Amino acid sequence: MTESRPALMFEELLETWDGETVVVHRDRESGSWIFVCLHSTRLGPAGGGTRMKVYETLVEALQDAMRLSAAMTRKLAVAGLPFGGGKAVIAVPEIPSGEQRRALFLRYADLVASLGGTFRTSSDMNTGEADMDVIGERTEYVFGRSVEAGGSGSPAPPTAVGVYHGIRASLSHAFGSDDLGGRVIVVQGAGGVGSALADHLANAGASVLVADIDPARADAVAARVGGAALPVDQLFETDCDVYAPCAVGSILNVESVPQLRCRIVAGSANNQLADPKAAEMLHARGILYAPDYVINAGGAIAIVGLEQLGWSKSELDTALVRIGETLREIYQRADARGISTASAADVLAEEQLNVA
Ligand code: NAD
Repeated sequence: MTESRPALMFEELLETWDGETVVVHRDRESGSWIFVCLHSTRLGPAGGGTRMKVYETLVEALQDAMRLSAAMTRKLAVAGLPFGGGKAVIAVPEIPSGEQRRALFLRYADLVASLGGTFRTSSDMNTGEADMDVIGERTEYVFGRSVEAGGSGSPAPPTAVGVYHGIRASLSHAFGSDDLGGRVIVVQGAGGVGSALADHLANAGASVLVADIDPARADAVAARVGGAALPVDQLFETDCDVYAPCAVGSILNVESVPQLRCRIVAGSANNQLADPKAAEMLHARGILYAPDYVINAGGAIAIVGLEQLGWSKSELDTALVRIGETLREIYQRADARGISTASAADVLAEEQLNVA
């Protein structure tokens, strides 16, 4: 009974997924399994990051790749980019380093190359520029390599710029003005995106509170931007205009939403909603939610625009400003139809896919 359960779950996952292709690859040398999910190629080749992680079960790894690839389809469609959604997961027994890591990424690159450009990847959790450079030694179908290797570098800074424009658009919708002067913004996560976002917000006159599970990081960013550090256990109960989750996913759930004391949730974290009920709860509480895959698309827009579409810096700036405009449209549609902003974003994504 227990033995047949995992197989059954694999079958259920494959049958209920609405994507196109799953590639399953065994990397015997490292003891890893690799799942590459091409959720949609309707608008172009499937694009998405490569996540490396130790999973409890392979079912969880496949589920992660499936879910994340579907989110990429929506993200790239709403951003108006000629790409479909994909995602790869390397389920490792432990995170490798040194020569073993390099060898794993070279073998993985051969797998990406074998897909002939139908899947194009970049970095994600536990992978970065250096890994993308290694992949680039074997295949051209990689984004987000280092500047030295001909790539556009880290996507975190343009992601932060996109979130900044998204916060302004959200303020404008909620308060009738996008002025950040005197607004209180809680930034959760003082990492690549959160710390750059804190700079932009503070420069525009906002009071920034920074929370990170690493208090030293929170302190450093807060000091730099003239804000204050906030203990992570006070995140939800702190009065603020905007709560900007820039750390982990699934933070909006049936327990956290009732505790929130903000007017707006707008941040970079992927998969913020633990379940669709959280979006309805936010809507019912009158908290304006900036759908994650719309507001956090700046990094994807930058790497595709700069590396694939040959954009100039000013074309990129215009595209990042457009994130705010897209959010305004989503908010207006949500108001007009009396639906949550998450649902309005999904409708917009579906429309973009259907015009193809
Ligand atoms: P990062 O790893 O550089 O920073 C994350 C920070 O969050 C770290 O400082 C970490 O200590 C902190 N943290 C982790 N768990 C926390 C918790 N529970 N409470 C408070 N702080 C916590 O990551 P990043 O690149 O800044 O990305 C942040 C989020 O944005 C992630 O969810 C990521 O998936 C998403 N995202 C990032 C990009 C990008 O371009 N980097 C693009 C789209 C989405």
